[in-house]
Amino acid sequence: MELNDSIRNIKGIGKKSEKLFNKLEINTVEELLCFYPREYDIFGEIEPIASASEGKVLIVEVCLKERPKLTTAGNLKIVKANFKDAQKSITAVWFNMPFMMKMLHMGTYYILRGRVTNRNGLLELNQPKILSKQEYAALTGKMQPKYHLTAGLTNNAIIKAMSLSIKETNLNGDFLPANIRKEFNLMAWKNAISAIHFPKNQNECIQARRRLVFDEFFFFMLAIEQLKKTKHQTVSKYIIKKDEKVLELEKLLPYKLTLAQKKAWCEIKENMCSGKVMNRLIQGDVGSGKTIIAVFALLMAVENGYQGAIMVPTEVLAIQHYETFKTLLDKLGIKIGLLSGSMTPKQKRNIYEQIKNHELDIIIGTHTLIQEKMEFNCLGLVVTDEQHRFGVKQRAALYSKGNEPHMLVMSATPIPRTLAIILYGELDISVIDVMPEGRLPVKNCVVGTNYRTQAYKFIEKEVLAGHQVYIICPMVDESEGVEAENVIDYTSMLHQKLHSEIRISYLHGKMKSAQKNEIMESFVEHKIDVLVSTTVIEVGINVPNATVMMIENSERFGLAQLHQLRGRVGRGKSQSYCIFMTGNDSKEVMDRLSVLGNSNDGFYIAKQDLKMRGAGDFFGIRQSGQLDFKLADIYQDADVLMDAKKAASRFDNVDIQLMCKKYSGLKEKLMSYMGGIFL
Ligand code: ADP
Ligand code: MG
Repeated sequence: MELNDSIRNIKGIGKKSEKLFNKLEINTVEELLCFYPREYDIFGEIEPIASASEGKVLIVEVCLKERPKLTTAGNLKIVKANFKDAQKSITAVWFNMPFMMKMLHMGTYYILRGRVTNRNGLLELNQPKILSKQEYAALTGKMQPKYHLTAGLTNNAIIKAMSLSIKETNLNGDFLPANIRKEFNLMAWKNAISAIHFPKNQNECIQARRRLVFDEFFFFMLAIEQLKKTKHQTVSKYIIKKDEKVLELEKLLPYKLTLAQKKAWCEIKENMCSGKVMNRLIQGDVGSGKTIIAVFALLMAVENGYQGAIMVPTEVLAIQHYETFKTLLDKLGIKIGLLSGSMTPKQKRNIYEQIKNHELDIIIGTHTLIQEKMEFNCLGLVVTDEQHRFGVKQRAALYSKGNEPHMLVMSATPIPRTLAIILYGELDISVIDVMPEGRLPVKNCVVGTNYRTQAYKFIEKEVLAGHQVYIICPMVDESEGVEAENVIDYTSMLHQKLHSEIRISYLHGKMKSAQKNEIMESFVEHKIDVLVSTTVIEVGINVPNATVMMIENSERFGLAQLHQLRGRVGRGKSQSYCIFMTGNDSKEVMDRLSVLGNSNDGFYIAKQDLKMRGAGDFFGIRQSGQLDFKLADIYQDADVLMDAKKAASRFDNVDIQLMCKKYSGLKEKLMSYMGGIFL
């Protein structure tokens, strides 16, 4: 097989499973191979029953001492069996597997592997696998890949397809030149792909990951070199002179700008009036007040006769911005439009028409804004909010679009300036490093699951006081692809735990956007008290009346992402709280999370996270999705980033060098990486 063959060429993938793979955005063999595990299941050693603790995956060697029992609950068949080792006993439970009754024999020794759960205070082994001595020996120390799933597609099915394609695909081409591989001590691509899915040991996995992370950064840096060409040179067609309306709006605001906001605004104004095209990044921690600066910039563009656009990563955020902008700008007679994915084609055409005819001054939307059909009358400024959510592809598309408008991008990524300069090499940078006055810092606590009842009491109290609450839903191991079910189950559980008058609703990524928008709007209008959600609410949402954020399974998130989530509260005058619930109270987890408890400073948190996460820690910790990397993490892999930057700087005149035949593979990759756009 070849890399760009359809996955239908893989044995065992028929029409039906092809559709399921497509859902995970896997269409070709290459896309399958680059579908990296989200974590690994590491087969440990046999341990005594005594070492069982809630949530732990335990392997025990035990003897069946009593006859197993079969009971039924509703239409559920439950097999329970009691096993003993030298000191203790434990009950294993299997659901809907009545045949276990025949498979288990009294007096026989078994090796069992399963997760320990707590049922009414008793520790049980939940649906353990039975392993033969040989199976156990073959698996100990091995790392089994675990993939993101979608309903209908099992982890085993993906493993099977993966191992077949690794065996049968020609993987010999390596786009990375041999001298670079040698200098930076990187595995061949072929070996890296095979080892990232099926590593022989942790070290091999780390090496494979390093190579693939290097690739991601390397292409990213090459793309930045390309984007840099747009910086500082271009004379702008959009002459900006007046700022009277901005001054008028500033007077109408119910607050005074912070010094940092003023400085950022001055820098933007200077750029826009300079006669050259502005390319500027505003970096400011969550809640630092970036939106109003974007409003100013757009207003100034409009005041001088141009149109402006603002692009955000989620529809929910687009709607929120639309409301904010309308409240601020309607009274100044500015016409604002929203382009939303959930609109009918007719509604969309209507908006396109209004944009083309300059009936709209400012248009707000997701990245659909840079799609082909959109034709502006005189687009003078494009703002991108939460830029760290967009990939290089979208960045490149923006630069190549339109008639070189001014660019303003905003990001809440907590990174030191030196790193920002590398990652946003094509941009000038303004930093908003002061929070608006009068904010009370969010109070934090890191707690175990036994605190949950108290947490719910606390939530009830806050709701009674007229406030609102976010709960970030737990991530259940196997069904991560089926996140919707988790959210729904959790919500119905919550209905039973909280006072019946509390209005609870939920939000998840798989919902239709119209439905998502409706929920979010109800939350903004305080028709919902408690919102159960996945991390879709992480980005940009501003509901100042929400004072509690509770995050389940917080040990599974990176600190930077937790900090972003926490940024959704503490936006108003009332005291806000963040409850980090953990399912694992090991010292490392508590230490890591306590950083969040001790600080509200995103820069500091990211630095500490980096320090505390050892080399092996990337297993099972959720990345924050910064800049759209698949494996690479700007905090954790900072050293690889430096290597990749060094390697990419050899190609400072990218296009000339890439014409050279020996780099043809590289050029092809870079082209596809940048979405076919070469600036
Ligand atoms: P972010 O930087 O995370 O995008 P926002 O722009 O959403 O933050 O601002 C958060 C909240 O702070 C908003 O409700 C906004 O109206 C308010 N705000 C912005 N600037 C100030 C200020 N200088 N003083 C007081 N409140 C402000
Ligand atoms: Mg924002």
